Amino acid sequence: MRKLKIAIQKSGRLNEDSLQLLKECGVSIDNGVDKLKASASNFPLEVFYLRNSDIPQYLIDGVVDIAIIGENTIIEKHPSLEVIEYLGFSKCRLSIATPKGLNYKSIKELNGKRIATSYPNTLKQFLTTNNVNAEIHEISGSVEIAPNIGLADAICDLVSSGSTLFKNGLEEQDIILKSEACVSISPLIGEEERKILDKLLFRIKSVLKARSSKYILMNVPNDKIEAISNILPVLKSPTVLPLAEEGWSSLHSVIEENKFWEVIDQLKENGAEGILVIPIEKMVL
Ligand code: AMP
Repeated sequence: MRKLKIAIQKSGRLNEDSLQLLKECGVSIDNGVDKLKASASNFPLEVFYLRNSDIPQYLIDGVVDIAIIGENTIIEKHPSLEVIEYLGFSKCRLSIATPKGLNYKSIKELNGKRIATSYPNTLKQFLTTNNVNAEIHEISGSVEIAPNIGLADAICDLVSSGSTLFKNGLEEQDIILKSEACVSISPLIGEEERKILDKLLFRIKSVLKARSSKYILMNVPNDKIEAISNILPVLKSPTVLPLAEEGWSSLHSVIEENKFWEVIDQLKENGAEGILVIPIEKMVL
C-alpha cells in the first residue's frame, strides 16, 4: 500500500508542534527521537525526521511528498516550492537589526556596511530591491553576537519575542518577511499520494478550525434572544434551549476566538449572563 511521505524537523522549534498537530489529526506515530523514519500505525503516512535546511531540497527531488516547515526556509532555499496550508504556529519575522542607539532611518544606511545572516538569499533579494550595496556575511548560528564581536555592523535574523535581540543590545529595524509553519508540497508528488494528502489536509483543517474557535453558552432573557443572536458572529444560527426558570433560555453557539472579546460587552449590555467559553477539539464543516 502506498504511503504519503512527510518531512518534519528532526529537532528545533517546529518539531514538537508538528508532532502535536499530527497527533491531533488522529495519526499515531513513534516519537522517533533518534530515528530518521517512522511509520504511522493507523494512517498511510511515513514520517521522515530531517534537518530543517535540507527539507526544501528533499521536496524538490521528490524524496518526500510534503513537509511541515517554516515558510522562511522555503523562501530562502527554494522559493518556487508551493505552500498549500499555513499552520498558525512558529510565527516569526526575518528582520534587520542594528546595535541600539544608532540613528537608523532606513535600509540605505547599510550601504557599504557588513550584515551577518543565515538567510543570505532572502537578504540579497531585499538589498537588491532597495538598491543597497552591503556585504553579506553568511554564518550558520548565533548571528546576534556578530555586531558585538566586530564581525558585522548589522544582522538579518529571525525574531520571535525579540528577547534575543534585546539581550544582545540590538534593535529591530526593518521587517523583511513574516513567516509561520506551513505545509509545502513536492512538485513530484504522485496521484495516489495526493489522495492521501487530501485526507490528511481535511483533518489538519478541522484541527486548525477547532483551535481558533470556541463553543459559547450563555443564559439570556427570552425577549433578548434575537438581539443577542444578531450580535454573535456565529457559524450558523445559535441553538436556543429553554431554562427551568420561566422567561430565560440557554443560547449555544460557536464563535471565532478573536471575535469573542469584540462582542463580550455588547452581550452583557443585552442581558446575557453566565457566559461560558469552552474549547473545541475538532471541527468538521
Ligand atoms: P526570540 O528571542 O524569541 O526573538 O527568538 C530569536 C531566536 O530564535 C533567534 O536566534 C532566531 O534565529 C530563533 N528563532 C525565532 N523564531 C524562529 C522560528 N520560527 N524558527 C526558527 N528559529 C527561530
